[in-house]
Amino acid sequence: MRIAMIGSGYVGLVSGACFADFGHDVHCVDKAADKIEALNAGRIPIYEPGLEELVERNAKAGRLVFSTDIPRAVAEADVVFIAVGTPSRRGDGHADLSYVYSAAREIAASVTGFTVVVTKSTVPVGTGDEVDRIIAETNPKADVTVVSNPEFLREGAAIDDFKRPDRIVVGIENERARPVMEEVYRPLYLNKAPLIFTDRRTSELIKYAANAFLAMKITFINEIADLCEQVGANVQEVAGGIGLDNRIGGKFLHAGPGYGGSCFPKDTLALVKTAQDAGAPIRLIETTVAVNDQRKRLMARKVVAACGGEVRGKTVAILGLTFKPNTDDMRDAPSLAIVQALVDLGAKVKAYDPEGMEHAKGMLPPGVTFADGPYTAAEGADALAIVTEWNQFRALDFRRLKEIMKAPVLIDFRNIYKREEVARHGFTYAGVGRPKDG
Ligand code: NAD
Repeated sequence: MRIAMIGSGYVGLVSGACFADFGHDVHCVDKAADKIEALNAGRIPIYEPGLEELVERNAKAGRLVFSTDIPRAVAEADVVFIAVGTPSRRGDGHADLSYVYSAAREIAASVTGFTVVVTKSTVPVGTGDEVDRIIAETNPKADVTVVSNPEFLREGAAIDDFKRPDRIVVGIENERARPVMEEVYRPLYLNKAPLIFTDRRTSELIKYAANAFLAMKITFINEIADLCEQVGANVQEVAGGIGLDNRIGGKFLHAGPGYGGSCFPKDTLALVKTAQDAGAPIRLIETTVAVNDQRKRLMARKVVAACGGEVRGKTVAILGLTFKPNTDDMRDAPSLAIVQALVDLGAKVKAYDPEGMEHAKGMLPPGVTFADGPYTAAEGADALAIVTEWNQFRALDFRRLKEIMKAPVLIDFRNIYKREEVARHGFTYAGVGRPKDG
């Protein structure tokens, strides 16, 4: 299959490289000339484990090319994927579909022969209908069918997720698309990954329902964690105790500082707006959004309490800025709200993140300083807060930390340490939902 990938960000680049690895001919395009220039020079513009090797191997084999030439990529393709961003629209929280629609117009102008246009971006119900309408309006002669194929990969484990998905969802309105999509995903299909065909609107909604459910599950355990702190229970044991029930499942039950990232915050909000517009408001998700928004900033209180009720003039070292480990993605990371709140309260913040600092520099308030490692961040600090559980923060040398910090205080927003172990080195410890804990 000849595939054009419009948008070479986290999703477009990973999907494009994986499709090439399946043996398809993939042309990844992007409006951002610097991204394409980097890719053509063998540099990967994002941090994603395993991606560099995958891109290099497939580019060398001639199955994966990069350019800014959208007309050519589209004209040569049997299947065109739209993988552009769908951020929250400023002001009202609806998904901003301007990138999707502009890609649709560009596709319409260059398409030749029968072409399947696939929306891989996360888009609200009905977007496929609009993409269809735009293409027909721009080029009435275009022989195109529009398909929805939402992406479920997680940053940090994206390649594995793409190649070993729990399911592949494909929403079609025209049976001509079915054999084409089966061919695109044949290697996964042969590997018994369930390929689910639905109508287009259902497929679009599956993506939002999945993300909203996961965001709700995280928010649920976060509220249980708050309750644990008040009543002297341990949230990790509660999560273990309920997670063993197959109807609940143990995943996404880790209490923490609130969900963030490039998907959950914007997708939950967009679903809330879609549902309100449709006259079927989803109150559970409205509440999830509100609870999570407040939570991130409120987490600064944990640091204040651990510092004895005041952070003004004190130095707080922050370990981990990205919304989760193994990515450089800073979009809607909880660290942004926590650091801002600490700065508002008069703290000096020194931060370190293995991959996210470059992006973080433009997003954190002025005055925040950056260190080149966990120990330089901790030097002279009154408290150390682990916000993202990168592997390199899982075995910190507390003896060394005790020597270099001004005060031995650890706030562990990801519950990666046991209080006892940290206390042995003379540290005061605060986790999430573990008031007495082990
Ligand atoms: P991104 O911002 O990393 O990448 C989008 C890319 O599209 C950018 O490089 C941008 O320059 C390019 N672009 C925009 N308009 C274009 C156009 N007209 N022509 C060519 N290129 C264009 O975004 P992302 O994280 O890859 O997300 C893309 C979509 O996938 C979103 O809808 C997102 O919700 C969804 N998604 C993301 C993830 C994730 O983990 N990041 C997971 C599943 C789904």
